[in-house]
Amino acid sequence: MKRFPDSLSGAFGRADREFVYRVQSTLEKLKQQEDKKVKRKLSLGLILAIILALLATGTALALTVGGWGHIEKAMDLAVESGAYGEWSLEAKLKLIDAMRADGIGIRDGDWEKLQGQDLTEEEKHALADGILTAYYGDEKYLYYYTIAEAEWGDPHTWSLEQKHWFWEKLREKGLYGDDAWIDVLPEEGDLAPEEAVRIARQAVKDAYLLTDAEIEGYYPNVSFFITDGCKTPRWMIEFMSRYGNSGEFASRYSVLLTREGEVTEDAAEGWLTPAHARIREEQQKGTAVDMSALLGQIRLKDQDTVYWQPEGGKHYHFLPDCPMVKKDFLPLRALPVSDPQIGRLTPCPCCVEQQDFWTLKDKLRYGAGEWKYPAAGWISEAEAIEKARTALEEKGYSPEGLYPAVYSTAENQEEEYYIIYFDALTIDPDGAVGADPVYCVVLDARTGEVISCGENHSNG
Ligand SMILES: [Zn+2]
Repeated sequence: MKRFPDSLSGAFGRADREFVYRVQSTLEKLKQQEDKKVKRKLSLGLILAIILALLATGTALALTVGGWGHIEKAMDLAVESGAYGEWSLEAKLKLIDAMRADGIGIRDGDWEKLQGQDLTEEEKHALADGILTAYYGDEKYLYYYTIAEAEWGDPHTWSLEQKHWFWEKLREKGLYGDDAWIDVLPEEGDLAPEEAVRIARQAVKDAYLLTDAEIEGYYPNVSFFITDGCKTPRWMIEFMSRYGNSGEFASRYSVLLTREGEVTEDAAEGWLTPAHARIREEQQKGTAVDMSALLGQIRLKDQDTVYWQPEGGKHYHFLPDCPMVKKDFLPLRALPVSDPQIGRLTPCPCCVEQQDFWTLKDKLRYGAGEWKYPAAGWISEAEAIEKARTALEEKGYSPEGLYPAVYSTAENQEEEYYIIYFDALTIDPDGAVGADPVYCVVLDARTGEVISCGENHSNG
């Protein structure tokens, strides 16, 4: 899913900001190292000037920065003059002037020296470099991003206003081309960020069984944003832990909330609820957790109805024709999931473990293979099943009593298919359940056109 940037302006990507920041900063470094073929030789006088500037500005760092105009100025200079190594003296002075306007102090007399006639051009360059690097670190890496980072801290800790302002300014100036994720601002009536964090924190605690002390150890990185797939703003709260000595953030738990603050997920983007994410992690780790019970409980939330057999049935079933249904009990009854009886039952392992019959979304959620999630413009999974069933019946086949197992593939834009098997469920004398594909139908995922339809011979 990650797209590697092919240019500096395209280096800002979507969800995985951490990755993007690193790439961006690495690209910038490489670009500047390449561009800076000729290094200025520094005289002793210049080195002294730099050291003095560093000393003088050391205390100024503690000052509160008033405005953001100088960050915008650095963006403009990136457009006009490129990397810092290429900046003229005039460009450096523009940035220093914008810093002064934002309340960032420089040593008394330095501004006059930069404007005056006493210093040579080279000495002025060195003085300007000294002032800027004292605030923003190595001049090789000096640009709008490192300036914002120096003043606002790690980008994961930026406020909603800072995120919105920074990325929108970059877009405006043509320094950032990706519209897949846009930071927006909450309006009147929207949740307060603290409330969104509280809801998300509870969801993580519930799913991962964390104590208050454990979850307090994570820093919540809050975003309010729209994507190209969803124009209604949503909240993303990433609980991040610091790692190593560097104090950098590593994402650990992500929670997507609707605008109204409900825990939700977006399977197409791979953003799962904490509960679903945990299931997937457990599956991938292959831990000793009782997966069928855990999965069964989680899946229950997404179900309207389950099935139960009165007089002795201890399981609820997701499949109305589950082969584990006992022949000598009363027929299955449909139970709404709100029915209190369900609390005394356990999920039927067969119904839980027959992953072939899960919806594509569930297959993706619970890590049951890497399926292509239906894209915009595809017919729905339910429609695909109906069309496949009709196609079989029109050919004189009878899919009655068989279970549809849906898959999808997308080799490229021209080859996007639903593949639907209709399986017969069997049960061995030792209780093992098998699924035998009887028919197979292939549909064009966009038009629903039947590509092939008939008996399944693929495993014969
Ligand atoms: Zn069952």
